[in-house]
Amino acid sequence: MALLVTESIVLHAFDYLETSRILRLLTRDAGVQSVLARGARRSQRRFGSAMDLFAQGIAEIHVRPNRELQTLASLDVTRGRSELGADVGRFTAASMISELVLRFPYDEEATHIFDAVVECFDRIGAAEPDQTLDAALGGAWRIIAHLGFTPALDVCANCHAPINRGAAVSFSHSAGGALCVRCGSLSTGSRVLPSKARDAIRAWTAGNDASRLATTEARAHQRLLREFFQEHLGTDRELRAFRVWEQGGWSAA
Ligand SMILES: [Zn+2]
Repeated sequence: MALLVTESIVLHAFDYLETSRILRLLTRDAGVQSVLARGARRSQRRFGSAMDLFAQGIAEIHVRPNRELQTLASLDVTRGRSELGADVGRFTAASMISELVLRFPYDEEATHIFDAVVECFDRIGAAEPDQTLDAALGGAWRIIAHLGFTPALDVCANCHAPINRGAAVSFSHSAGGALCVRCGSLSTGSRVLPSKARDAIRAWTAGNDASRLATTEARAHQRLLREFFQEHLGTDRELRAFRVWEQGGWSAA
């Protein structure tokens, strides 16, 4: 049994039996790991705030090869991220990001994904209530880019012809991005992407900020992101955190 010592973030946590918790950790060195925190519910002292969602720190994990569930020896928290739990918009946004990271298919040897998630949580945690949505949308597309799924925006996703920057385009999830006029006219199931929305996704995937979104624009971006996410998952399994994020923010506003 090997001991893995690596920086980790708690993306998901639930009770297990009467005394323990199971966490899903995003680790810097070994992708996503499911770990059993034995006795975590019986003794608060043993793991302390390490059982909280979005907490970040150094984890010591006993790893047995070919097991789905590993054993957490300790998680020494360096960032508690209580700011994400203090506001419903921040909490639902961070939960959506966690769901995206846990469900999107990718090669797990990826330090830069860990850094992208840290940056995203930091931005959401620092955002004013009316800017949480922008921060979450930007972070989600940045993470998608790091995962290797950047959509085509300036060349046609189907025939690779260049596309005029300032124009509204058809966006096809199955083709993987924007379509030229000819391919767009032949495509079914694509939706119109205004040039400002394309500018925003271009900025986000490149790691930049986009201009502030109006409410209707943010809603359209949430829908587009959900469809993109769903297309890449290839299943109809419900995106629960995403749904709460997409619906919740509006009723609270
Ligand atoms: Zn084309």
